[in-house]
Amino acid sequence: MELYAESLTEYKRLKTLEVKVGDLLIGNYHPIRIQTMTTTDTMDTIGTVEQSIRCIEAGAELVRITAPSKKEAENLLNIKNELRKRGYFTPLVADIHFTPNAAEIAARIVEKVRVNPGNYVDKKKFELIEYSDADYQEEIERIRNRFTPLIKICKEYGTAMRIGTNHGSLSDRIMSRYGDTPIGMVESAMEFLRIAESENYYNIVLSMKSSNPQVMVQAYRLLIENMQSELGHCYPLHLGVTEAGDGEDGRIKSAIGIGALLEDGIGDTIRVSLTEDSEFELPVCKNILKRYQQSKVVLPVDEDINGRGILWTVSPLSTENNDQHSPVPAIKNISRLNMTGMDTRKTFVVRNIGGKNVPVVVTNFHKKENISREDLKDIGYKYNPVTDKWNISDIAADYIFCGNNEIDFALPGTLKLIYNYDLWKKSFDKTKCFPVLNEQKYLDDSIEKSPVLNFIMFDCYSPDYPVFDKQKFYEKIKNDNTSVLCLSTENKNAVQSIRRMFLELIEREIKNPAIIICDSEKDTMDESLIHFAIETGALLIDGFGNGIWLSDHYSDNQKIQEYKLMNSIAFGILQASRTRISKTEFISCPSCGRTLFDLQETTAKVRAVTHHLKGLKIAIMGCIVNGPGEMADADFGYVGSGPGKITLYKGKEVVKRNVPEGIAVEELVSLLKENKVWVEPELSVSF
Ligand code: SF4
Repeated sequence: MELYAESLTEYKRLKTLEVKVGDLLIGNYHPIRIQTMTTTDTMDTIGTVEQSIRCIEAGAELVRITAPSKKEAENLLNIKNELRKRGYFTPLVADIHFTPNAAEIAARIVEKVRVNPGNYVDKKKFELIEYSDADYQEEIERIRNRFTPLIKICKEYGTAMRIGTNHGSLSDRIMSRYGDTPIGMVESAMEFLRIAESENYYNIVLSMKSSNPQVMVQAYRLLIENMQSELGHCYPLHLGVTEAGDGEDGRIKSAIGIGALLEDGIGDTIRVSLTEDSEFELPVCKNILKRYQQSKVVLPVDEDINGRGILWTVSPLSTENNDQHSPVPAIKNISRLNMTGMDTRKTFVVRNIGGKNVPVVVTNFHKKENISREDLKDIGYKYNPVTDKWNISDIAADYIFCGNNEIDFALPGTLKLIYNYDLWKKSFDKTKCFPVLNEQKYLDDSIEKSPVLNFIMFDCYSPDYPVFDKQKFYEKIKNDNTSVLCLSTENKNAVQSIRRMFLELIEREIKNPAIIICDSEKDTMDESLIHFAIETGALLIDGFGNGIWLSDHYSDNQKIQEYKLMNSIAFGILQASRTRISKTEFISCPSCGRTLFDLQETTAKVRAVTHHLKGLKIAIMGCIVNGPGEMADADFGYVGSGPGKITLYKGKEVVKRNVPEGIAVEELVSLLKENKVWVEPELSVSF
């Protein structure tokens, strides 16, 4: 193991125990499973069956259904029977919060139960209590007494379990001792895991979800480390980002959190939680997993270790992802990669790149001929010919790479150009444009360079890359405060390769800013979005990268040239990785059988009036039972509290209770005004 992964420089899946969910095997190198959750009322048997079927046909290998009380848990039997009658044998999972009685019923019916250790035994009162060690132990015994009956039922019925920790719903006990931290999340699961193992029950999957991908990734890494050191083995991991929202933002956030772990071989099953109909989650899961070329692994003979009923199977690792890959050097100072997130790489500033500046966005216009003022609208700059002024949106790109295409009109002051070297050399006004050079050209001291800013392409361990004097390159660039590195790789495991290069730069004390270049040759923009989010987001959340430069060959080839979408994806990635906040952040639950209003419609309504409140975090949650706990670090919350009733929160505090749904959005706006976070939208400019 290298810290939390089998390898940090080549793709190897993490070895985990094998868990049996009905006939489905999870963990132990089995293909990564995809799953979703229904949004119907669990008492609506036919509605739930039909939605489950739509999900199964879209690819779900497990379907989760909420069981908020005993009656819903009992109705799982009718749902299961109806599905089986219609020829669907996909395992079902009961989702439990607060109700051990419902869990004990469901565990006799469905193949798996999910419990949330933050609320399985405890009712959350948001109280900070000082526990002595003896008090704490007493609490653990109380959990043991309440949790053990469920374990015994699961053992008897062969039912699997997910211990699913959520960042937003940690118990008061955990919050008091560990705070709202990844370590608290891990300990919350470990308390339950220790009890389960003491009963010799191992058919368990674990999850550590958060709506913040950085917190989520840190928690999974810590969990793996803790399981390895304390138990000597790892349970299979279910990956997901909670309350990711909808549309492009929800997909980006999920891809960053889930992808950052999958890139290091971590994760045995995934769920993408979107505030959309459940079946729309599955194509996103598939697009994420396509990167890892899932194939059925032929397993050798099963081996029962220590008579525990665990099937440990040794199977070949999927090495397909290591094709087209030259070796990436081992990491020398591995302790630098700490489990709670890597240190941000310290850099100096070159113009507006590096240091404490937010990461920049470079737009690719190199295939666009005759670039006009109108074209800049797609990347956040709208020209007004009457006033001869530019309106600049919050998602305006910082640089345009024009290649050999010259721009001859006056640019907005915040926008600069990157030209290929020969065009830059003959350009008249070198204050608005800067050159891009490859390594060999950079090493050529006889050619002119910009005294302000040079973009230097730098390859990260690609196979068959032209040879140049690397030592000389490192020495030269280290003392050059006009140069920004642009890191790219041909290696298939781009995240590991570029991350390794960032570490090499740290080792060599090279403090030039570095932009991450990410190319996509995927077949669709949906796939490109996932690709960009994973390959840049996974690095950004670990503190690497002073900018991103995305390039989509599919659009180029098809002449679709989705500049607006590409710009929006770039800013979406920076927002989701919390490195550059340019818009309101919406934290909305995916909805389930507890939801008290039309979550998709309401999210759209709230978004329509608050989308311009840059940096504000607004949660839209379907129910009062879980919503307030799950909305994590939102600044304001809009939570269903009864049929047609909404309760508004400021942080965790209730400020308007049971507001009629018809006026709740207006009341939310009033609340934002009262708290002086409201600004009027600029009506005149639409991008
Ligand atoms: S917060 Fe949303 S997804 Fe979670 S239990 Fe409530 S309605 Fe269901």
